[in-house]
Amino acid sequence: MKFDKCVKPKKLHSINAVLIKYFLLLAVFLIVMVEVVCYLIVRNTSEDKARERLSLIGRNVAARVNDDDIEGLIREYRMDGINVYVLSKDGNVLLPEGESADGDWKDGIDGVIKRLSDKAGGSVVYVQNNYMTYAAAVNYQGESYVVATYSLAVINGAARSLLTYFIIVGVVVILATGLISYTISQKLSSGLKNLSSTAVRFSQGDFSVNFANAEYLELADLSDTLNSVRDEVKKSGDLQHEIIANVSHDLKTPLTMIKAYASMIREISGDNPEKRDKHLQVIIDEADRLTGLVNDVLDVSKVTANLDELKFKVFNLTEFLYGIINKFDYLQETQGYKFMVDVDAGVYTRADEEKIGQVIYNLLGNAVNYTGGDKTVYVSLKKSLTEERVKLTVRDTGKGISDKDKEEIWNRYYRAKENHSRPVKGTGLGLNIVKIILENHSFDFGVDSEVGKGSSFWVDFPSVPEEPEK
Ligand code: ADP
Repeated sequence: MKFDKCVKPKKLHSINAVLIKYFLLLAVFLIVMVEVVCYLIVRNTSEDKARERLSLIGRNVAARVNDDDIEGLIREYRMDGINVYVLSKDGNVLLPEGESADGDWKDGIDGVIKRLSDKAGGSVVYVQNNYMTYAAAVNYQGESYVVATYSLAVINGAARSLLTYFIIVGVVVILATGLISYTISQKLSSGLKNLSSTAVRFSQGDFSVNFANAEYLELADLSDTLNSVRDEVKKSGDLQHEIIANVSHDLKTPLTMIKAYASMIREISGDNPEKRDKHLQVIIDEADRLTGLVNDVLDVSKVTANLDELKFKVFNLTEFLYGIINKFDYLQETQGYKFMVDVDAGVYTRADEEKIGQVIYNLLGNAVNYTGGDKTVYVSLKKSLTEERVKLTVRDTGKGISDKDKEEIWNRYYRAKENHSRPVKGTGLGLNIVKIILENHSFDFGVDSEVGKGSSFWVDFPSVPEEPEK
């Protein structure tokens, strides 16, 4: 055998690993998202608050710069961590008197003056070197500037401890997620593992296994499906045994008879032409029976296997039916069987002619086998009122079929208990072949029967116009 393409086996992962991986990824993603957003909100809000407060204080000092108690006010603000100075345009500290400013305002004042001149409105707030600064021009001992500064180290420190808490919470959440996802995945996969180990026992031929899992809906569905697969496999196994038993039994009887009669001819009846002929006839009959059995077995496997291979064509059902009835002439002539035929002329149908031939032959054969003492079989082929359908009926006057048997007779190898005279060889396969063929055609069929009065097997064919010859 040659393979064109080499299919690389896909690497399989366990449900546990995949579930835990994705749960953890989701947890990490959510934690990072939530924490980053919280961090940014907290940080921005603190900065906004600081900016607001700094502006308020700066404005207040600017408004009251010439008041007597201004130094006291400035010192008060210092308690809140806000350093306020009034600087000359050279960067000298004018207020609070006698102090030198934090940092070197001698260099910084030019930057303040430039910022103020760039921005109309008299005051600016800006962040530089981790300090937030408010500046405004005032008139105190001539041209001077109020400068208020606030160290952002406090906000940064708070943000850092917030970050630490976030990391601790994140780790705890991730650990909890890992634990939860591990538990869930264990629960899920244990159900699957149970099913799989049951399936292994089943594959080893243990049909008593039960696929049970009531914990999850999907697994319960799967268990139900597997249980029905088990039943089907068991049924088909039983059927196989039954078929083998039936076929071997059916083969054994005629073979024994053939052997026995052949021995008899050799040892007893060889010189007596009359007896010899009788014994030879038994051998011929039994050989026919064997042939019939083998043909039926072959037919069953053929119709079962070739489900799609129906060769539909339009043909004259009336003539076709007569042709098959004629095959039973030998029974009419040698054994006094009668066929009462009531058939519409020129009925055409569309079907697989050969297979429908098998159906009709089997139905006629059964009617002959099971008809009553009058040895009569009634065959009718009648169009419906609309002429769209045509019904074939094969009726006999035998013992009929009980309601219980009516269901079963279509099954392979089913035979009702009673014994019948059997001029046509039977195997218990005939009606099963009929059923498979008609089901493949989607034609309706059935049996009406009354115990003690006889049975009427019917098939409903489509009636079609004759096809013009090509
Ligand atoms: P068989 O070879 O035994 O006839 P079939 O599949 O043709 O096998 O029929 C199955 C069983 O159905 C028969 O064994 C018989 O019991 C019952 N049956 C079939 N046709 C008739 C009939 N016309 N009248 C009574 N019983 C019938």
